[in-house]
Formats: sequence, C-alpha cells, structure tokens
Amino acid sequence: MKLTRRSFLTAVGLAPLIPQPEPQAIIVGTGYGAAVAAKRLGEKGIKTLMLEMGQSWDQKGPDGKVFCDMLHPDRRSMWFKDRTEAPLETLLWLDVVNRDIERYAGVLDKVHYPNMSVYVGRGVGGGSLVNGGMAVTPKREYFEKILPQVDADEMYGTYFPLANKNLRVNTIDRTFFETTEYYHFARVSRAHAGRAGKKTTFVPNVYDFEHMRKETLGEAPRSATAGEVIYGNNHGKASLDQTYLRDALATGNVTILPLHRVTRIQPGYRLTVEQIDTDGKVLRTKEFSCRYLFLGAGSLGTTELLVRARETGDLDLNEHIGQGWGPNGNVMTARAVPTGFRQSTIPVLAIDDWDNGVFAEIAPMPAGIETLTALYLAITDNPERAGFRYDRNTNTVTLDWTSEQSRPAVQKAKALFDELNRSNLTTYRYDLFGNNKAFSDDFTYHPLGGCVLGRATDEFGRVRGQQNLYVTDGSLIAGSVGANPFVTITALAERNLARILTEDLNR
Ligand SMILES: Cc1cc2nc3c(=O)[nH]c(=O)nc-3n(C[C@H](O)[C@H](O)[C@H](O)COP(=O)(O)OP(=O)(O)OC[C@H]3O[C@@H](n4cnc5c(N)ncnc54)[C@H](O)[C@@H]3O)c2cc1C
Repeated sequence: MKLTRRSFLTAVGLAPLIPQPEPQAIIVGTGYGAAVAAKRLGEKGIKTLMLEMGQSWDQKGPDGKVFCDMLHPDRRSMWFKDRTEAPLETLLWLDVVNRDIERYAGVLDKVHYPNMSVYVGRGVGGGSLVNGGMAVTPKREYFEKILPQVDADEMYGTYFPLANKNLRVNTIDRTFFETTEYYHFARVSRAHAGRAGKKTTFVPNVYDFEHMRKETLGEAPRSATAGEVIYGNNHGKASLDQTYLRDALATGNVTILPLHRVTRIQPGYRLTVEQIDTDGKVLRTKEFSCRYLFLGAGSLGTTELLVRARETGDLDLNEHIGQGWGPNGNVMTARAVPTGFRQSTIPVLAIDDWDNGVFAEIAPMPAGIETLTALYLAITDNPERAGFRYDRNTNTVTLDWTSEQSRPAVQKAKALFDELNRSNLTTYRYDLFGNNKAFSDDFTYHPLGGCVLGRATDEFGRVRGQQNLYVTDGSLIAGSVGANPFVTITALAERNLARILTEDLNR
C-alpha cells in the first residue's frame, strides 16, 4: 500500500485536520429541524452535508433487531454509559429497572447538569428515534403567547398541517382504543380523571396505529406491544429516517455522515469535526467548510456550539445566545392503581388541565407484570428559564438550572394529581424516582430554548450578527410550548426555511 501523508497521519492517529470537498450547505444534526432543512435545501438543488454525532441505525444486531427493548436493554440502549438510566430508578424500591451495559454509541443519551438532566436521541433521526411519537399541535392561544413574533394564521393555516402531513401523523381508531387490553391503562386513568372532573383528550402520533392493531392480532411484527420505545422502535414508528430524511436523500443532493461530531465553528464557515467509532474513539479530526451553515443539533447541541464560539472569540454573537432555556415544565409522577400487564408503549391520551397549567400525558409502564402503576408525564406552564455558562478551564458548557426553578411545575402537577387521588381514594407511588419522591422534577424529555427566535436570531432563525448562519431546531423556542414539542419544531423549521430559501439562497 502506498503511504500517503493522509493515510500515514490517519494510521498513526495524529488526528490531523484533513480538508474535505466543500458542500454549499452544512447542517449539524439530523433531528426535526435539521431534517426539514435537509429536505428543503436538497429540493432546491443545494449540495448539502449533514453531520451527525450518533450512528445510522440501519444495521441489525446479533439478535436480528436494530434496537433493543426496554425490558432487555443492552449496549445499544444508551450513549456511552456503564448502566442504563431509565426515567424510573427503582420498582418497589428494588434496583430492578436498570442494567449494567457496555459503553457504546447507543441511541438514548441522558446529559447531566447540576439540577437537571436532559434525555436526547443520538443517531440519524435525532429524537425521533427514541421519542413516544406524540404529535401535538399546541393550543393557539399559548403558541401566540410564547412566539408572538410568528404569524399564527400562517402557522395554523399552512405549516402545522404541512408538518403533520410530512411526519405521517395519525390518530388511533376509537373502537380499537376502547377494546384492546393494551390501552386498559389509559382507560383507567381516563375514568379516574373523569371522577375528578378533569377532561382527557386523544393525542395523535407518528406510530402507525393500523400496524399496532395488526400487532395485537399477531399479523405484524411487534414493537409498541413488545416494550419498545425509548431505546428505539424496530417497527411501526415513522421516525425521521422514514420521512423527512428519506425525502432529503432522494433529492440526490444530501449526504449524511454519521459518527461525526462538530466541536468548533469558525468564521467562513469552517467546522472542526471529530469522526468517532462506536466505542467513542476519535478516529480522525476533519475540517469542513461551507457557505451556508444550519444548526440543528438540538437545544443543547446548538446552544453549546454557539456559546463556546462566542466565549472563545471564534464568532461575534450577542448576549441572548445561551439564554431562555426551559424543560417544557416536565414533571413525572405515578399513582398506585392497577393498570394491567399488557401495555402499549405509545401514549394516546392526555389529561388536559391546561386552564390550570397542566397537560399530562397518560404514560405506559410496560413491565410484562401488573405493577400497580399509573404513570404520567406532565407538561406544565412553568415560567422559569435558565442560561448556559462556559467554563474556560474545561472548555465545557453547563446549564444554570436551580432545583427551586422546578417548584412551580411540581406545584401545578401536584394540584391536579392530589385531586385525582382524592376523588379516587388512591395514593402516589414513592418507590419509583429515588429518595421516596412522588414527583420527578429533575429531568426533561423536552429541552427547549438557548437560541431564542427574535432574540439570539431574527424572526426566521438567522443568527444575529452573522451572515448565512441559521438555527433550525428546538433551541429557537423559549423554554416551553405547552405540548409535546416536535410538531412545533418541525412546523417552525418549515416556515423559517421557506423564507430563508426565497430571500437568502436566491442571491
Ligand atoms: C425519550 C423521549 C421521548 C420523547 N417523546 C416525545 C413525544 O412523544 N412527542 C414530542 O413531540 N416530543 C418528544 N420528545 C422530544 C423530541 O424528541 C424533541 O423535542 C426533538 O427531537 C427535538 O428536535 P430537534 O430538532 O431540536 O433536535 P434533536 O431531535 O434533539 O436532534 C439533534 C441531533 O443533533 C445531534 N447532535 C448534537 N450535537 C451535535 C454535534 N456537536 N455534532 C453533530 N451532531 C450533533 C444529536 O445527536 C441529535 O441527533 C421526546 C424526547 C425523548 C428523549
């Protein structure tokens, strides 16, 4: 083999900066906002490169499956952890929920900050690989409150319907819902909410409910009915690799490089990128350049890159970068109630008490046994926001959320569930979240904000003070959206891209 400079440097692992051919546009990440940008740029004929730090989840493991389930987690479950970190710590105070695993580039990450941990998806498709698929269009009044600079008529008339269509959102057939044992748990909580004078509402999803119905009849491969969700679904769910990203690749103008982590952004734009293997080893450090740079690395990923760029002096950015972050008021709680041992992993019903600031999804707890658990993930109207801080010594970015800031969320959730317990003579579960807590208020599935629309960026996601630099993900939304966020992230990205493509890329 002829030893070139490049192969020599690569072989000795010196991680050199290897210049790469230049695409017109680069997108960091492959989640919702990134996938919308890729489809629209690709359709416009713009050569686009997507850089994703996680894997491309298209290879089957030794068990013939791409993803592992929640009851038998293996190394595929989590992003470089020694042990799984499921939202429930224990069951009956017993350490039976989590398992030791090998460190590996798994699909679900839990990022820890001092008083708040954030779950995020890692892989081509971002959060769409691990989420519950709940596809909720927020209440218009609340949307107008949190995003006043966005034309709500246009969003509700054009971009929410467009996002719902492209994401393949569907709703459960009511007869199926009322009769299948897999939603007994949801019907129980609905009855209890009713007794407390609270209303429930059906929630659309990107999981194909016809597939699920066939699963229950043994006519389709099982996924939602086989304990698969937060570590990935092998069947049934229209994750982004099957929707927006597939469309983007079909244009022939989009390339995706998995296991490529962007670490630095310099003017031009020049990106420093580490290519890693599935064991986390840095194989090489590359440099990419582009004219148009879209950041879709999620609320944490995008904010971290821009805070670091500002604080190290790489980019001239304003003081709003790194501000306006919130956990969408997430609080998890559980009540002691028989809910059945067969449970679909896909939530379809929520207690809508938004007049009192709570929208609580009725969550499953599929354990294969009766656990006497009615589980809820409440989205609350918590006005608290936090900022990110750069630590020069460690070159890391950390979140300044305090535990007191979770209090308004817990108070609102507690008011609702106290009412449910009173009306149904039931109690909370204290054995699930550690420290005998009835409410888990120190993690979120819904990180939002950090580069808020109209402050860190203009009204369409163009980063202030920069040319051709765009934010296209959940970091645009200031900490709360009053519903599960991915439909809003998608619709907002569609709206912003439509404007950017007409005004900026026609130059
Ligand atoms: C367990 C779970 C359940 C959820 N359930 C729901 C639900 O039912 N309904 C709902 O609406 N929402 C749900 N969510 C939230 C939803 O998935 C997120 O709001 C959504 O994925 C955010 O989209 P995004 O475009 O902002 O970025 P993400 O989807 O987070 O994508 C960001 C991508 O960028 C990559 N990345 C980050 N940094 C870098 C870097 N430096 N270099 C390269 N790549 C990078 C990440 O690996 C990731 O793939 C859930 C989330 C979780 C974790």
